[in-house]
Amino acid sequence: MYLAEEAWPDLDAYFENESLALVPLGSTEQHGPHLPLATDHLIAEAFATAAADRTGFLRTPTITVGVSPHHRQFTGTMWVDAPVFRDYVESFTRNLAYHGIDRVIYVNAHGGNVEHLREVGRRLHDDEDVYAIEWMWNDSIPDLVDELFEHNGPHGGPKETALIQHLRSELVHDDRLADARDGGFPEFEASAPTHHGARTFYDAIDNTDNGVFGDQTDATAEKGERMFEEATAQLVQLCNWLDDQPFADLLPKDHV
Ligand SMILES: [Zn+2]
Repeated sequence: MYLAEEAWPDLDAYFENESLALVPLGSTEQHGPHLPLATDHLIAEAFATAAADRTGFLRTPTITVGVSPHHRQFTGTMWVDAPVFRDYVESFTRNLAYHGIDRVIYVNAHGGNVEHLREVGRRLHDDEDVYAIEWMWNDSIPDLVDELFEHNGPHGGPKETALIQHLRSELVHDDRLADARDGGFPEFEASAPTHHGARTFYDAIDNTDNGVFGDQTDATAEKGERMFEEATAQLVQLCNWLDDQPFADLLPKDHV
């Protein structure tokens, strides 16, 4: 069920009987010369929609702009500052709680949002209002991602390319995959630059001229479909697990 397409009287039964909501979050930021800026929020929305359809749980509208200042040198990238993002997410999560939701899955597809969603989840958990957790699709299927790609790339690499080839193939510039690889940083994961143990870079452009990492020519729609199905199955299981937990068990433990 998609909240924004329902008339309010038709939502009453859901909020009376259920207490879980899926919130998709992504970014609108450069994803190299071959993928659309929407990549992350398209991916998040697709997973949340599939899981909602398969479980009957509610999904909310998608948060399409996230914490992406590290991509700002590339034209069109949008972002909000981290404190604003945290307050915004906390506020609308509390607003879901007002209607009776007490557990939320942030279906996230942008690495830059992770630590901030964890922080919001902690605030809500400490206040014992809502149990909200962050889920990132590739973290649910690490073995499959490693099996499918030799050079994954943390951003704009073959795994995201394959997912968009599967979900929205008309938005992928397949004729630019070799350029994406050759103009980027194909082996980033093996050799992320540090100096004496310190991470010395802040922006994507410090490591890649065209904004992306990994070998994009390794992507296919078939690999994208396989990842999508396996990660969706993980998300469905997470929904069912979370729904099964007594709320008291999700609250902070008492002081010793
Ligand atoms: Zn991305």
